[in-house]
Amino acid sequence: MEKILVLAHTEADGTLSKPALEVIEGARALSGDLVLGLVGEKVGPLGGVNKVFVVEGPEFAQGRYATDAAAAEAICRAAGASIVMAQGTSRWMRALPGVAQRLNGRTDTHVMAFNGGCATRWFYRQRIEAVLTRGERPWFLLLDSGLPYKEREGEAAVERVAVNLPPLRTRVSGFAVPKTEQQTIRPDAELLLVAGAGWTKKQKDGQAHVEEAAKLILGFLAASRASLGSSKSLVDLSGEGQAVLPFLSHLNQVGQTGATPRHPKGLATCCHGEEPHVVGWRFIQERRAINLDANCGWSRGKADVLYVADAFEVMAKLNQMLGG
Ligand SMILES: Cc1cc2nc3c(=O)[nH]c(=O)nc-3n(C[C@H](O)[C@H](O)[C@H](O)COP(=O)(O)OP(=O)(O)OC[C@H]3O[C@@H](n4cnc5c(N)ncnc54)[C@H](O)[C@@H]3O)c2cc1C
Repeated sequence: MEKILVLAHTEADGTLSKPALEVIEGARALSGDLVLGLVGEKVGPLGGVNKVFVVEGPEFAQGRYATDAAAAEAICRAAGASIVMAQGTSRWMRALPGVAQRLNGRTDTHVMAFNGGCATRWFYRQRIEAVLTRGERPWFLLLDSGLPYKEREGEAAVERVAVNLPPLRTRVSGFAVPKTEQQTIRPDAELLLVAGAGWTKKQKDGQAHVEEAAKLILGFLAASRASLGSSKSLVDLSGEGQAVLPFLSHLNQVGQTGATPRHPKGLATCCHGEEPHVVGWRFIQERRAINLDANCGWSRGKADVLYVADAFEVMAKLNQMLGG
């Protein structure tokens, strides 16, 4: 039987992130001896596993290759696991391939699912799905997704692992992050609002109304705290020198060559609902769309509700109702 270790690090506020907990949940569904490895300044107890290996201390609060790799290596050696699973955070993506090298193991990144023997991942921008297996151990799997986490009763046996750190040359002096009102991608939001290229197209008066579109979209995001997604056509416009919505980038793009976000609800506006876009909605449970065209892609079984209406009018009314 495989011995499975799930590695997780705490976030800036000392808690484990939702995706990190989801990897733990995914590992629980596998048959194997499951242990956890937690790294952070101070980590809390977690129920529902046999054993937790803990590396704690102020040096481990921030992401840094030297400390993250040393902590993960010490835990992997103490746990003696054959499979090591972790969320594909920037910290683990940077440190774990090096740890696999130190332990003569192998790493696979962007893993979507793991059934205990085979890992599944996409290649070539989600056009080819591959199922991989490896003979080498330890096998490190950096996952892009997991299962919804459920809390468990009970306390696991905790083993504190000592780490011999090398001299530290990297000092974390702070973070540079965009202002919150500019932060339009909110993975934990209840709702995804998708903006399509229709927002920039000529409307019934023969004119484009890009400024008004920007005001309506940003007003809705501020009032609803929704996350903002986009179609490829809309984010590509900036490269084509057309009038664009300045707060959108390719990071907002949802679809085959974009992101596959996981919000409970989605509302598409001025977006045609073509297949390469809608494949990015596969984890969105309740889907609605607003389009002038009753024959758009959303009407072909891709949305639960299609409002055949002018999105400028609907969003203005919605913002008014939300007090925006
Ligand atoms: C290999 C490949 C990969 C691709 N990957 C992606 C991807 O990852 N993501 C992606 O999005 N696309 C992707 N595409 C492109 C995709 O096929 C579509 O071209 C794109 O999604 C269309 O964007 P859109 O719906 O915003 O624009 P359009 O097709 O221009 O549609 C605009 C819509 O807005 C509506 N509209 C206009 N004004 C209003 C109004 N006032 N009120 C309501 N509705 C209005 C129109 O009726 C129209 O339906 C890919 C294509 C290929 C070939």
